[in-house]
Amino acid sequence: MIIPFNKPYMTGRELTYIAEAHFHGMLAGDGPFTKRCHGWLEKRTSSPKALLTHSCTAALEMAALLLDIQSGDEVIMPSFTFVSTANAFVLRGAIPVFVDIREDTLNLDERLVESAITRRTRAIVPVHYAGVACEMDTIMAIACAHGLSVVEDAAQGMTASYKGRPLGSIGDLGAYSFHETKNVISGEGGSLLVNDPALVCRAEIIREKGTDRSRFFRGEVDKYTWQEAGSSFLPGELIAAFLWAQLEEADTIKRQRLESWRYYHERLASLEEEGVLRRPVVPPDCQHNAHMYYVLLPDEVTRDLVLASLRNDGVNAVFHYLPLHNSPGGLKYARIHGSMSTTTSVAARILRLPLWIGISREQIDYVVTAVERVCASSCKTSLDCR
Ligand SMILES: *Cc1c(COP(=O)(O)O)cnc(C)c1O
Repeated sequence: MIIPFNKPYMTGRELTYIAEAHFHGMLAGDGPFTKRCHGWLEKRTSSPKALLTHSCTAALEMAALLLDIQSGDEVIMPSFTFVSTANAFVLRGAIPVFVDIREDTLNLDERLVESAITRRTRAIVPVHYAGVACEMDTIMAIACAHGLSVVEDAAQGMTASYKGRPLGSIGDLGAYSFHETKNVISGEGGSLLVNDPALVCRAEIIREKGTDRSRFFRGEVDKYTWQEAGSSFLPGELIAAFLWAQLEEADTIKRQRLESWRYYHERLASLEEEGVLRRPVVPPDCQHNAHMYYVLLPDEVTRDLVLASLRNDGVNAVFHYLPLHNSPGGLKYARIHGSMSTTTSVAARILRLPLWIGISREQIDYVVTAVERVCASSCKTSLDCR
């Protein structure tokens, strides 16, 4: 049996909507499908403004422009994240300041954030790993006390929530990804949630090449002109048409993924009890979206062994992230605050298992059996990794 790590899910209506956009000959951005997507996102998140972008990376870059991040400014974030979290701010000359993550959720450790704040700190960027929320009440309170902005990297967090509030809608700004590896997809794609109403007008301008074209199309001005520094961050209508088919199914997608996630969780419980591995932890305040199923093994040697053995059995498990703080880019552009021991340890011990819509219970059984087999023969059960 070959079990891929990921299989992009298609709802079946993507081509119908793309054909519709093609038929009407409206292919540039901000057409009818983009408006539908905006409306859906705003309704679901209660954010005053959702704007489609061509990626989550683009949404984060927009956030850095919107907050007027300047050279030498500092932005607090985890090192255990995707490069775009840091790059978006580095492009503005800012310095990412890495703080370690929590052992349980693998999210930015909110208890370490306040001591990382300096005169130059401008923003905090929590990343909701695996669609499990960061401790947002604490992070928002720290930001408020120090006059900092909060940009949620909610790339993995669509349809997940914290104390009932959708991820991405809690900070001043939130960024989603619709990359094909995420839950709701459009190939490449993303969205910026502008939760601070004071930033909405400039967000539209920055996204439309620095012009007030959005206002012009709404008939609010009789011509559009260059207003400030901006770029082209909007996707074309074909992408929005594809995305619309996915948004319509967002709840089904979440439900199906959760079913597979829970089955993994149940099947791996005994290995956790034996101390062979640790399963994901979801705090009671967090409703997650089953973006990923991972396990933590006792050490890197065991992880690599399990990974190789699974591959040998046709199971495409993977690991990530390589921490940013000791990558060449991280050494050049960023600095760390305090110890990175949890980040380093987790990155060496994490193993992500195949999870996609349509994966069967038999396939999950096959993956779990493969993990059990290699662990029985080689995992150091003396090393308690709980
Ligand atoms: C996927 C991801 C991104 C980048 O998303 P793109 O849409 O590919 O630009 C950024 N941050 C995190 C945490 C991600 O998982």
